Amino acid sequence: MSFFKNIQTKNQKLIIPFINEKDFELYMKREDLIHPVISGNKFRKLKYNIQSIDKKKQLISFGGAYSNHLLALSYIGKYENLNTVGIVRGEELKNLELNTTLKRCIENGMKLKFVDRNEYRLRNNKVYIKKLKKTYMNSLIIPEGGTNDKGIKGCEEILSDDDRVFFDVICVPVGSGGTFSGLINSSSKKQLVIGFSSLNNSNLKNDIIKFVNKKNWELIEDDVFGGYAKFNQELISFINNFYNITKIKLDPIYNSKMIFRIIDTIKKKKWRFGKRILIINTGGLQSIESFNNLLKNKKCETISFTT
Ligand SMILES: *Cc1c(COP(=O)(O)O)cnc(C)c1O
Repeated sequence: MSFFKNIQTKNQKLIIPFINEKDFELYMKREDLIHPVISGNKFRKLKYNIQSIDKKKQLISFGGAYSNHLLALSYIGKYENLNTVGIVRGEELKNLELNTTLKRCIENGMKLKFVDRNEYRLRNNKVYIKKLKKTYMNSLIIPEGGTNDKGIKGCEEILSDDDRVFFDVICVPVGSGGTFSGLINSSSKKQLVIGFSSLNNSNLKNDIIKFVNKKNWELIEDDVFGGYAKFNQELISFINNFYNITKIKLDPIYNSKMIFRIIDTIKKKKWRFGKRILIINTGGLQSIESFNNLLKNKKCETISFTT
C-alpha cells in the first residue's frame, strides 16, 4: 500500500550537561520524526501487517486508553479507506469523557469496544479470537501493539549497516517487546541491545525469547516510576528540562523513562555497558495532550510543549 515507504531515520548526537563526550558518545535515532500522528515504531510494525491485506477487510486490534497503536491503526484505516475496530482495555471508560487519544481514534472512523480487564486478558486466546472473527466478518485481527512476526520484520529495518558497525549498545523502550525483538534480530552479534520496560509484565522475557534469534540482549524490567503510564513530578520536570537542553520532545510513557534511566545511570557512574550508545526514540508524542489534561486536573506541573 502506498502509505508505507522505506525509511531510514537520522541519528542525532546528544550533548548532555555533566556527560563528557570523550567518555560516552550518545546518539538518538529520530524514529519520532517519521510521522506526526503515527509513532515511529507503530509505523514499522504496521507496515508488513497492512501491506499485504485486501481492501475489503476490516482491521481489529487491542490497546489501552493512551494507545499509540490504536491511534496509528485508525489513522491508516482512514487513509486507506479500511474499517477499523479498537478493543479498549477498561469497561469504565465507556461512561467517562474520552481522552484525546480515543477521541481521535473515533474521528478517524474507528469503532471502539470497551471491555473489562478480564476480557482484555483474553486478547491472545485462540477461542476468543475465533469468536471475534465470527462477530466481525472478514476481519484481520492484529495483536496488541502490532507485535507479531510481520511487525517484528518491520522493526528489523530500523538499524542501518553503519549502525551495526559503529555502536556498542542500542537502547529502546519496551511495551510488548516487538520493537526490541526486531532490533535484536537485526543487530550485530557484538552489540548489546538493552530494553527498558515501561510496564510490569513478568511474562515479557518469555514473549521476547519466542521472537528473537540471538542472545545479545538485556531487559531492564523494573520501571522506576511504578509501571505503565505512571509518573511523578521528577519525570515531568525531566521531560521539560530535556526539551530545554536539546529541543527534543519526549513522550511521558516510553522514551522519557528510558532516557531518564540512561542519563541517571551514567551520572551515578553505574553504566556497565559500552560507550557508543544509540538510543531509539520511538515517538509517541500524541499521548501528551491526554497526559497534560490529567496533570492539570491534579494541579501538577504540565509538559511544556505541544506536538
Ligand atoms: C508501542 C510503543 C512502544 C513499545 O513498543 P513495543 O514494540 O510494544 O515494545 C514504545 N514507544 C512508543 C512510543 C510506543 O508507541
